[in-house]
Amino acid sequence: MGKIVSLAGVVALGASAVWGQTFETFTDGNGIEFWQCEFGGAGVVGDGDAQFGLALPATAQTGFEEEYIGHLVVPKVKSTGTWMGISHESSMTSALLLLSWLDGADVMTSFRYASGYTSPDIYTGNATLTKISQSVNATHFEMTYRCESCWSWDQDGVAGSQVPATTSGAAQLIGWAQATQAPTTPGDTDSAIKQHADDGIFGAVVASARKSAYTSWVSLATATSTAAQATGTSTNSSNSTGSASASGTGGVTAATATAAACPNENAMASTTWDYIIVGAGAGGIPLADRLSEQGASVLLIEKGPPSSGRWGGTMKPDWLIGTNLTRFDVPGLDNEIWKDSEGIACEDYSVMAGCVLGGGTAVNAGLWWKANPVDFDYNFPAGWKSGDMAAAVDRVFERIPFTDVPPTNGVLYKPQGYEVVGGALAAAGWQNVTADDVPAKKNFTFSHPNEMFSHGERGGPMATYLVTANERKNFKLITNTTVSRVVRDGSRITGVEVEAFLEGGLCGIINVTPGTGKVILSAGAFGTPKILFRSGIGPQDQLETVKDAESSAMIESSHWINLPVGHNLDDHVNTDLVLTHPKISFYDFYAAYTNPIPSDADQYIANRTGILTQSAPNLSVLFWQEILGDDGITRQLQYTARVESGHDIESNKSMVISQYLGRGATSRGRTTITASLDMVVSTVPYLNNAHDTAAVAAGIESLKAALAMDPKIQIMYPAANTSTADFLADYPLTTASRSANHWMGSCKMGLDSGLVGNGTAVVDTDTKVYGTDNLFVVDASIFPGMTSTNPSALIVAAAERASELIAKIKVGKSSLVANSTVPYPTGNTNSTLPQGAGSPSGSAVPSGTAIFDSAASNATSRCTKQITLTGSRTSSSSLATEFPASSSLTTAFPTATSTPSTSHASFSLPSTGYQATNGTLPYPTATTSSPSGSSGRE
Ligand SMILES: Cc1cc2nc3c(=O)[nH]c(=O)nc-3n(C[C@H](O)[C@H](O)[C@H](O)COP(=O)(O)OP(=O)(O)OC[C@H]3O[C@@H](n4cnc5c(N)ncnc54)[C@H](O)[C@@H]3O)c2cc1C
Repeated sequence: MGKIVSLAGVVALGASAVWGQTFETFTDGNGIEFWQCEFGGAGVVGDGDAQFGLALPATAQTGFEEEYIGHLVVPKVKSTGTWMGISHESSMTSALLLLSWLDGADVMTSFRYASGYTSPDIYTGNATLTKISQSVNATHFEMTYRCESCWSWDQDGVAGSQVPATTSGAAQLIGWAQATQAPTTPGDTDSAIKQHADDGIFGAVVASARKSAYTSWVSLATATSTAAQATGTSTNSSNSTGSASASGTGGVTAATATAAACPNENAMASTTWDYIIVGAGAGGIPLADRLSEQGASVLLIEKGPPSSGRWGGTMKPDWLIGTNLTRFDVPGLDNEIWKDSEGIACEDYSVMAGCVLGGGTAVNAGLWWKANPVDFDYNFPAGWKSGDMAAAVDRVFERIPFTDVPPTNGVLYKPQGYEVVGGALAAAGWQNVTADDVPAKKNFTFSHPNEMFSHGERGGPMATYLVTANERKNFKLITNTTVSRVVRDGSRITGVEVEAFLEGGLCGIINVTPGTGKVILSAGAFGTPKILFRSGIGPQDQLETVKDAESSAMIESSHWINLPVGHNLDDHVNTDLVLTHPKISFYDFYAAYTNPIPSDADQYIANRTGILTQSAPNLSVLFWQEILGDDGITRQLQYTARVESGHDIESNKSMVISQYLGRGATSRGRTTITASLDMVVSTVPYLNNAHDTAAVAAGIESLKAALAMDPKIQIMYPAANTSTADFLADYPLTTASRSANHWMGSCKMGLDSGLVGNGTAVVDTDTKVYGTDNLFVVDASIFPGMTSTNPSALIVAAAERASELIAKIKVGKSSLVANSTVPYPTGNTNSTLPQGAGSPSGSAVPSGTAIFDSAASNATSRCTKQITLTGSRTSSSSLATEFPASSSLTTAFPTATSTPSTSHASFSLPSTGYQATNGTLPYPTATTSSPSGSSGRE
């Protein structure tokens, strides 16, 4: 039995601690010594603090690398019960989770695994928990346990690991979550669970946890009760009938995906459509409007529920009751997606995306950029160059003009962020522009945010294109309905198969007009590949995964069309800096959701003025820079400055500047499907080569030089004594840390058909899927490479252009026989595909599949700041030589007297390169403080 005295200690600490964490050595009643973290506070996590203790084998004790002995102390939640979960990596998703709760006096345990922001599945891999002791008192329960095969995991072929490093100073990142409700059936280890109420991350100091007595302690591990055994071999309840009512355990939670019972009759069975468009987001809505405008019958099918009040949306805080506004309509509430995304975020993806009417345009920050012409010229094939796109871009901005002053009274609120950062940039010679007036000026320029907001509300495609489409009798929108696959007869698509996602959704088959009808997938960079895979279109390995999962529902393999769907995945690479300045003050947009400052709410409701008309969290200044690499490629950087803090800098005078590496980057990743039909980023598209990394580094040096123009600006993150090289070497290459939520490229457009040889393209320049007669893709996934800016306005422009091209296509027999070739390696390995037109191939892609998810990034990282993590990467001095000396960089930077718009920062190719350097990292142990609210958000 563990010592109850330890529990008393926790309670005593809990009374005084507010989000405190302490680290100490703790010896339990079994005599086992742990490195221990205490965490919790503010009464949110049960009645008192929690503890997690870690004991690891000594480095020399081989054969025990995959295990540990843990000590978990959980505060009870008296009236409603609780469960607590520990992640064996910092993230909720794609990591082994261990849940524990009470069933009477018994401490129950269960291994789980979440591939997306949804209720975790029962883990089906090989992890074994054996309890050493357990105890319960009035306020807490505790257990000491041995966890074997717990540092590497494999769920349905998706593997990950965090084996403790042997280097000194390494840390083991651990995530936790706790609920304020007991599992539904406490006596059942497979019980459904309710969503957690709080979560966090800490880093355990590996060296402090290593004990040579470890091998003697493991002999204490004999099963003490039936419930103590959790071998991860239970049946998998995921992907079942959609009846699970539990929601996710991460900071980002899933929709309550209780699939509605389908009506007996498919109301659509007897109607056929000239066009069926799947997905009502940035691509699908404008396309539906333009095609229906031409007189064709158009059905737009959206998986999610209505979002904006205009379309019957109902999700809103109390202060909006009585108005026709929902949380989606109010710009100042857009950040709420990062706090509470239940019923909004796509539960079947491992990254953030909006699964509601409007897709990303319903949940995003509204940044709305007229295309930099070079984005089309550099990335796209003939027919999609800037000259071809100009009319489409103009049409977008006629329908949805930008504003840089959202409040209807023309007053910008709390503009200090712009003044501080813009002031420093101006002093350093950067040029102040209105970005959408000069879209090509993306070098040493800065601008107020340009946004699609209209009359103080979100605006965008839902408020424009969808309105005009909906006025036509030949257009119909259905929501709450998932398209599971296209129905096809070889290369000819005859319709789509639909399932009710929510109450009121449809089931069955909906057909296109025989002979002439077309299906267009606009379900986004993950949704579209998922439908293609389930339709027998994609790489062999993906189709086999679906076949195993869906068996007879899947089209016969003789009709499979092998295309590189899911490869070429791209995203802006995010890297944050945090600064403070005495003029800055934080406005709490999160609190404004439930408890706004009354005068701000009143102003908003009365006349759409006040700070809530502006995007949260006070986006203040955007700026751009081009970096010419010595591979001859110019890489684009965008920086977004927001008035909030991050990375554990505790100050209400902080700003986070997120640097996005965009156009020109050659790193690419891959999205794949799991056996439970979730979409994951199996290869991250971040900094897999020295040129991309060097561009990020050069930009940071440049930014620091500009910010130094204002002596009152203090750069807090990275710390002053951290070199840029060290900073980047320690910055995790994970989706949670580096995503900008600008996913694209997974169904690349190109002239080199993926059906042939080493062709890389999934769709041709009419947006038609190679090897099909009448299947098209129009969304972010067709973009061959990244944009200069946040992409939504460019995706709408692509939809405008596609509407012209698709309408002209006569449906005929595809000239390429399906299944004619298998052009790509079929293993679920790293992508080595050549990249977008005009962009050279990326070199080797990093092998990391670990996903440091948004849930984790949102969590307050309350321990790691106290830990110095060193030693597991190449020494800073050797890395530093890989970057040009700042003097060589600054010669290329503008000075207050120079004309910066034509200059480029340049960099030298690192002699050894970051890929090689990062390859030596025993990721993620070399990370510094885990980012809280760190990845890009807009
Ligand atoms: C939090 C966040 C903030 C962002 N901020 C900005 C910003 O400020 N400015 C900017 O330019 N960009 C921003 N972006 C990116 C931008 O919103 C996206 O790039 C863009 O919306 C992608 O367009 P899309 O048409 O490819 O997909 P989406 O807009 O995501 O639309 C896809 C739609 O398909 C639906 N769908 C998926 N699967 C199915 C299915 N099987 N059946 C039926 N329907 C389906 C989805 O529910 C969704 O509505 C942001 C993104 C996020 C997530």
